[in-house]
Amino acid sequence: MFEKIVGHQTITNHLEKEIAGGAVGHAYLFSGMDGIGKKKAAKEFAKALLCLDTEKKPCGHCPVCIQIDHENHPDVNVITPKTGEVSIKINQIREMISDLSVKPYSGNWRIVIIDGAETMTPEAQNSLLKSLEEPLSYNIFILLTSHPQSLLPTIRSRCQSYHFQPLSCEEIEKIFQEETEFDSQAINEAALSAGGSPGMAYYLLNNREIREERIHYLREIYSLLRGNEIKVFSLAEALSKDKITSQEILEFLINWFYEVGLLLEGQPLPGEAKPNKIQIEFHKILQNEKNKAIIKTLFEMMATIQYNVNLRLQWEKCFIKIMKIQKG
Ligand SMILES: [Zn+2]
Repeated sequence: MFEKIVGHQTITNHLEKEIAGGAVGHAYLFSGMDGIGKKKAAKEFAKALLCLDTEKKPCGHCPVCIQIDHENHPDVNVITPKTGEVSIKINQIREMISDLSVKPYSGNWRIVIIDGAETMTPEAQNSLLKSLEEPLSYNIFILLTSHPQSLLPTIRSRCQSYHFQPLSCEEIEKIFQEETEFDSQAINEAALSAGGSPGMAYYLLNNREIREERIHYLREIYSLLRGNEIKVFSLAEALSKDKITSQEILEFLINWFYEVGLLLEGQPLPGEAKPNKIQIEFHKILQNEKNKAIIKTLFEMMATIQYNVNLRLQWEKCFIKIMKIQKG
């Protein structure tokens, strides 16, 4: 049913079972990093419920499937912050709720996808809460968020939660291999440096410089782990451009060491993917406990940079700590 969705097999299996068993819920929370495929999954779910094809749902080419793809189906409402705004305001939620009282135009469902649900103001969240508590029989809410902790606990507890895990390099390559405009080398580099997010991979495919830079950082960190102390300072300098860059690189590195950790524990990579060349190199020089300590250090760094800190200094501290861990 969801063959258009690469990876996230456990989630799609659940959703498929619910549809097949006629037991679709009224509120879902899809969480996971930006660009990981939450919106794609929400749309495929909506298509599976409303598609006009009698054999294969979603067919992907009936008027309903096409309208949902283009976000102009009257029964599928996608809510995001308005242009120029950073948050979803209470008025948007009120308007949506009043729309929902109208029965579906065509199918059996009216679906609301709230993209960037964490940007809802507290007032907007409270206003949504009542609809989540007492949904109309034909309502389905799908909340998409990269920061579920920013939602009220009462909202979260009303939703069936699905957490989207980073994809493996191989899965990301699979998504882009049909895009003929990109060569396989570029796809491979983008997949390697995307931190498990197809959305990031797409961005990197279109930004060669950043893509190559990330591969370069990996090589440098590898060298650092082999005892090349001088790399501490050049890396810290390169990575401390701004907070956003630091955050993105940290997400990428955390996912990188997490996957190396799976290899060290003899566990399969996401989607049973084959490890890539650079992962194997890291795997050879790391030990499981040290790798865990490195991931912990990167998470600590992530927490530290939320504050107004000297990024370069913090990166230096972070890399010195990583080097000490590796030296043991
Ligand atoms: Zn269709």
